[in-house]
Amino acid sequence: TKLQIAIDGPASAGKSTVAKKVAHLLDYIYCDTGAMYRAVTWAALQKNVSLDDDVALKELLSGLKITFKPTATEQKVFVNGQDVTEAIRLPLISQNVSTVAAQVSVREALTKQQQNLALNGGIVMDGRDIGTTVLPAAEVKIFLVASVKERALRRYREDQAKGIRITLADLEKEIALRDKKDSNRLISPLVQAEDAVKLDTTSLTIEQVVTKIMEIIKK
Ligand code: C5P
Repeated sequence: TKLQIAIDGPASAGKSTVAKKVAHLLDYIYCDTGAMYRAVTWAALQKNVSLDDDVALKELLSGLKITFKPTATEQKVFVNGQDVTEAIRLPLISQNVSTVAAQVSVREALTKQQQNLALNGGIVMDGRDIGTTVLPAAEVKIFLVASVKERALRRYREDQAKGIRITLADLEKEIALRDKKDSNRLISPLVQAEDAVKLDTTSLTIEQVVTKIMEIIKK
């Protein structure tokens, strides 16, 4: 049987890196739901739509064709045919995405898309509310955590490699603030599902985390 696997947790806990590898090992689809919220944020900034105006965002969404091409190795994101896969990783998007993600109309639209993608199982989906809201019946639920310092350091290395210029201190602040906003919003906040397995990855390698998740899946 093809399972639904939900991987949630705070910002930069390694969710997407690990989810991609697990999807690859199982020959499942990988879906990065954070990229979807980032794409909507990118579009809103482009079109000068207020990021906390639920009605305007709904209007924006209706005129936008946001498409996601999930594969086992990556997920390309397009907005009206334009590839925004790299643009949505810029600090400006990270700083604003939590505001957009707190809007009801945006969550309703994206949650529906995510549920449709997962309909037949065979998917590893990462995000904040997958185990609690998007796929409450997922057979496997993982909640990945790591210290803020470690998460900032991991992101710093990734950003450096991509040529994104940001200091470690700024990253630490951004991550902590984003977690706070994501945890405190009224709709589908970031919280561990009751039936999720918590994994602290602070002192684990990527391979060790993947191995632990594969063990949980096989049980
Ligand atoms: O996973 P990533 O850090 O790229 O997610 C970016 C933002 O998108 C999160 O900080 C959160 O505000 C939002 N998000 C969400 N629900 C999800 C995935 C992401 O609210 N399932």
